[in-house]
Amino acid sequence: MTTNAAHFAIGPSLRGINRLYYRPRTLQEAVHTLASHGGQILSGGTDFFPALGERPAPSSVVDVSGLEEIRGISIEPAQTRIGGLTTWTELLRTPLPRSFDALKCAASEIGSIQIQNRGTVAGNLCNASPAADGVPPLLALDAEIELVSTSGMRRVRLQDFIVGNRKTLRRPDEVLAAEIVPRKLDDAHSAFRKLGARRYLVISIAMVAAIVNTDDAGYVSDARVAVGSCSVVAQRLTELERDLVGARAHRLAELVTPRHLASLSPIDDVRATAEYRRDAALTLVGRTLADCVRGSPTW
Ligand SMILES: Cc1cc2nc3c(=O)[nH]c(=O)nc-3n(C[C@H](O)[C@H](O)[C@H](O)COP(=O)(O)OP(=O)(O)OC[C@H]3O[C@@H](n4cnc5c(N)ncnc54)[C@H](O)[C@@H]3O)c2cc1C
Repeated sequence: MTTNAAHFAIGPSLRGINRLYYRPRTLQEAVHTLASHGGQILSGGTDFFPALGERPAPSSVVDVSGLEEIRGISIEPAQTRIGGLTTWTELLRTPLPRSFDALKCAASEIGSIQIQNRGTVAGNLCNASPAADGVPPLLALDAEIELVSTSGMRRVRLQDFIVGNRKTLRRPDEVLAAEIVPRKLDDAHSAFRKLGARRYLVISIAMVAAIVNTDDAGYVSDARVAVGSCSVVAQRLTELERDLVGARAHRLAELVTPRHLASLSPIDDVRATAEYRRDAALTLVGRTLADCVRGSPTW
């Protein structure tokens, strides 16, 4: 054993491989454990355990939930750093610039209070569900992901990080240590809307996050709009964003057309038909932009 991480066996050997539970105390210990022994990362466990169901963990488990150094949020001169282990509840309780209102609103709609107390931002991104509520607001914030391994640290744009349903660019030996948001639009208004089959504890049929900045004359100077649950990976609507710049802020909802949502590829599933999703997304985008202009937080 080359690691100092606390560990114990979690079950009978599987095809001759002993499955161990590791609980590293530092990020360095965590990445060395992953490099030497492999294993699946466990954080809040709110996606991890439901995915296992009744089955035992197929490999060793590296429980990163004790890594205090990657928990919490700091506002630095050029960027806001959200530690990967930050829970949704911690995010909601942290005073943040106005452009984070959409992310806070998403946090307040993730599962229930109990889920928000355990579930982490990194877990939401690494699980890479098309319905992950944290993704559209972080896409709109132009977030980057900080991945740490024994080879060092690398940064990847969130836009490039999630590459498919449950697929990311994370290598198995990497820990998602932080989400980094540049402080370019701190004071811009932002909003998030989620549509589900009921109001509470629900998986999204569609969700939208938007950030809108206006100049002193009331014209849009920057606009970012991201839609989730309507394609395999949540998307920014870049054509719409371009069309919004220069528009009068109070007219934004009127400017959204089906053409702006043409890049989405919603599917039929148990929650909604593709047609319903496309229609709902159009309405949600307009309403979310109107929320941005009204400026009162929706969370
Ligand atoms: C009842 C219920 C309701 C839910 N409702 C919602 C909802 O409304 N909206 C929504 O978006 N989600 C929802 N979820 C999903 C879940 O709560 C969130 O995605 C949560 O943010 C996951 O975080 P976690 O720390 O629990 O991740 P975990 O379950 O611990 O891990 C999830 C995945 O990410 C990997 N991982 C975790 N942390 C790291 C890290 N730091 N570095 C690298 N890999 C890592 C794990 O290996 C695993 O593959 C719900 C879940 C439940 C059980």
